[in-house]
Parts: sequence; C-alpha cells; structure tokens
Amino acid sequence: MSLDSGFIVVMSKVIELIQAQLSNEAVLLGADVTARATSYWDPSPTQALAIVRPETTEQVSAVLKICHDQDQAVVLAGGLTGVVEGAVAGPDDIVISLERMNQIEVVDELDNTAVVQAGAILQKVQEELDDKGFLFPLDLGARGSCTIGGNIATNAGGVNVLRYGMMRNLVLGLEAVLADGTIVSSMNQMLKNNTGYDLKQLFIGSEGTLGVVTRAVLRLYPLPSSRQTVLFAANSFAAVTTVLQRMNAELAGTLSAYEVMWNNYYKDVTAEGFHRPPLERNHPFYVLAEAEGVDSESDIERFERMLASAMEQGTIVDAVIARSEADRQALWIVREEFEPLLPAYLYDISLPKRHMEVYVEKLTQQLADWRDDSVGYIFGHIADGNLHIFVTPYDEGSHHDTVDKIVYGCLAGLSGSVSAEHGIGKEKLQWLSSSRSQSEIDLMRQLKNMIDPKNILNSGKVIS
Ligand SMILES: Cc1cc2nc3c(=O)[nH]c(=O)nc-3n(C[C@H](O)[C@H](O)[C@H](O)COP(=O)(O)OP(=O)(O)OC[C@H]3O[C@@H](n4cnc5c(N)ncnc54)[C@H](O)[C@@H]3O)c2cc1C
Repeated sequence: MSLDSGFIVVMSKVIELIQAQLSNEAVLLGADVTARATSYWDPSPTQALAIVRPETTEQVSAVLKICHDQDQAVVLAGGLTGVVEGAVAGPDDIVISLERMNQIEVVDELDNTAVVQAGAILQKVQEELDDKGFLFPLDLGARGSCTIGGNIATNAGGVNVLRYGMMRNLVLGLEAVLADGTIVSSMNQMLKNNTGYDLKQLFIGSEGTLGVVTRAVLRLYPLPSSRQTVLFAANSFAAVTTVLQRMNAELAGTLSAYEVMWNNYYKDVTAEGFHRPPLERNHPFYVLAEAEGVDSESDIERFERMLASAMEQGTIVDAVIARSEADRQALWIVREEFEPLLPAYLYDISLPKRHMEVYVEKLTQQLADWRDDSVGYIFGHIADGNLHIFVTPYDEGSHHDTVDKIVYGCLAGLSGSVSAEHGIGKEKLQWLSSSRSQSEIDLMRQLKNMIDPKNILNSGKVIS
C-alpha cells in the first residue's frame, strides 16, 4: 500500500513489477490518474489501475512483457482525440501512454523522410518539419492534441487525403512492440521495398489491438510555395460535384482539400455569438476548397480563372477567396470548429458520391419520422466519399442505439462503410459486420489470436 496525493492506492503486483523496471515518475497512480479526462469528448475522470509512461522502446517492451506474464489488460493512449472510444480504459486496465516519447529523431533531407517517436503531437511535427522546409501533409482538426502513434493506429485521414492519401500512404516504416514484449523493427526508409510482407500495414489502422507503435519513418513533401483557399456556395449537390470534377481536372493536380458543409451545419456554426459567416447563411451547400502549388502567379491565375468560369456557369453562386493567412484561418475555422453543435451523436460514414444525395434524403426523412426536433448536421471530406454526421438531440446513451440504426440503416444497399476514418474502437464494435464480410472478420480474429493470444492489448476493441 502507498499514499498518493491523499489517496490510498492498493498496489497490485503488476504495478510493483513495472515500478521496479521504470522510474516512479513513469507510473501515475490514484489522483494523478483521475485528474486526467477520459478523452477529448468525455471530461469524466480517467479510470485505470495506472498510467505508465515509458521513455524508450525497450521500456515499452519491458512493461508489456510484465503485463503479458501477469495476464494484465492494457489500453494504449495517444492524444485521446479518437472518436470511437478506442483509448478509453476501465478501472482494471493499465494505460500505456507514449507522451514522453515525443521527439523527431532524424530528418533525412535527401530522401524526404523523418524518424518520429509515436508520442509526438501532430502539430509539433508539422511545425518542426515546416521550419526545415518540409510538408508533413496529414492534417486534421485535432492536430494540437493527437499523436503520430494515434494517427498511425487509426490510419487517420483528415483534410488532405485527396492529394496525399491517408496515414497509410505517409508511413514508410515503423517500429512496434507486440503484446509479449517482442520488438518488431520495420523502419524501412525507401519508397520501394518488396521484400516479403509489408508488415507495417498490419499495425496501421489496427487501433492498438496488434501492438504498440513506438516510432515511425514518415514520408515528407516539399513545402508548397503557394496556397489558394476559397469558400464558395452552391445551389445543388450536382453543382458541388461538378466543381470538384473541374478542380480535379483543371488545377493541374494541386487540389488538396475539398470540404463540403450542408446548409444546416454552416448556419448553426455561424449563428450569433459563434463564427462570423464569411458568406450569406441561406445557401444549400458550402465548399471549402484549397490548392497547393509551387508557382504563385500561375497557380493563382489558374485557380481564379476556374472559379470565375464556374460562377459564370452558375455552378458557384457566391465565393470568398482568402487573401492572407488570417483570411484562410477565418474560413477553415467554420469547417473545423463545431462546438455549438455538441453534444451530438457523431458519425463518420463513407459511400460513393453518386449515392450521397439519396442517402442524405433518406436519413433526413427517417430522422424526422423518429422525432420532430431531430437534426442531422452533415459535412465532411466529400472528395474522399466521406461524410460526418452529427445527430441531435443528444441524451447520453439513451437514443444511441436508435440513431445508430437510422444512420447505418440508411446505408444499406449503397455500398457504404460505417467508418471512413475514425475506426471501430469499442463504440462501433457491433457494426463491423455491416461493412466487412464474415470471412474478413474471421481472418482478423485469427491474426489477433496469433499476435496477441492472451488478448491483453485493447481488448474488446475492433473485434470481439
Ligand atoms: C476536432 C477533431 C477533429 C478530428 N478530425 C479528424 C479527421 O479529420 N480525420 C480523422 O481521421 N480523425 C479525426 N479525428 C479523430 C482523431 O483525432 C484521430 O483518430 C487521431 O488519429 C487519434 O489520435 P490520438 O493520438 O488522439 O489517438 P487516441 O485517441 O489516443 O487513440 C486512438 C486509437 O489508437 C490507439 N493508439 C494510440 N496510440 C497508439 C500507439 N502508439 N500504438 C498503438 N495504438 C495506439 C488507441 O488505443 C486507440 O485505439 C478528429 C478528432 C477531433 C477531436
């Protein structure tokens, strides 16, 4: 037994063994655990036996070996911004956080790569690499809190997927520690390496169920020297997709973001007291589009010529172009900060663009049939076939099941997925089978059993 900030902490054998391997400050107990919020979305106190904060891969390995020997369940925590309760622990779990493994170790300026520790915060990585003249193109609203390890574990997407791909496309190699403490180093640095199975892909998107990602080799791009950003309004979904096709075809491959907002989303995030509306609030659709290029003059000229022509044709009905970084931020904030819509049930579906309009009509109708006061706010990464849906009214857990059935039920027959980029975690466990076949799920289960036979890593997440 030990005293910890006024709390009496009953020390389990596993904690004593971990403390003997790591320094005392590496292991948080009692009030130091509960002082932390459960996640970005849930301010209630973290529940866990302990939060263990290794400083090296070898320490991660030692901790996992102890947990494995002692049949101790482990939950992996990055920046806790994940949306599907993948990093949420229970009172009997040990949380491993890589918050003290947060450095960029090496930048290779010839091969355009960086070796980064998994606990590094995405924004810090972006900024440090920017200072060295490189773009690390993964970008999402949670950039200030999420970690490279969490981005890898969730195969994060975000706003630049259209041009640079998801995290899977941005990781050349990685190092992971398996449940029994085995360190698998697969730190490939080349674009090409066809020597057997590409093992890194096993860990990317596995949501911490197959191993702890400790370090990664990231793929870098040159910094763009010009950036054009526009928020425009359109009268129809057909106009939104027509402009997307034109931008893809006419902007010489420079289009990097194309984010759609349905009217109800735009209207409520620009309501009195929140964001200033850059355009009138009565248009059916809004799109935030961005292109990144290398030649300011010709990029700007091509971008504005394309917009002018779309306005002449009537596909764009109003538009505002960012003329400074401050302007750009004022446009992006409308898309990225959605606090007035919360709390809400959050969804992240994907489906072919040709089915989106029908899907939204069906969804709107079924939500109205459920409750007069229900609202389905719709926005997201339309170029990737990815829509986010926030449904209110929110009443803790009590409507969750009903709303899940409506949102996912409307996807039936439309070749969609219940998770475009957020993953499955604990929250969507029961819906996995609506997007993956039984043989796929069986193979996933076999892999999990082989790599983590005692099921100690993020147990109860992704597959049951
Ligand atoms: C405002 C906001 C905007 C967002 N926008 C997007 C978006 O556009 N696109 C998108 O994809 N997501 C988005 N997200 C979701 C979230 O930010 C991403 O899923 C992110 O990649 C999670 O990173 P994290 O470090 O916070 O991970 P956590 O939430 O801590 O963990 C997520 C999962 O990864 C596991 N994990 C964490 N670290 C490791 C590790 N080192 N090794 C193995 N497993 C690990 C956890 O156990 C958990 O299962 C958004 C979230 C917020 C709050």
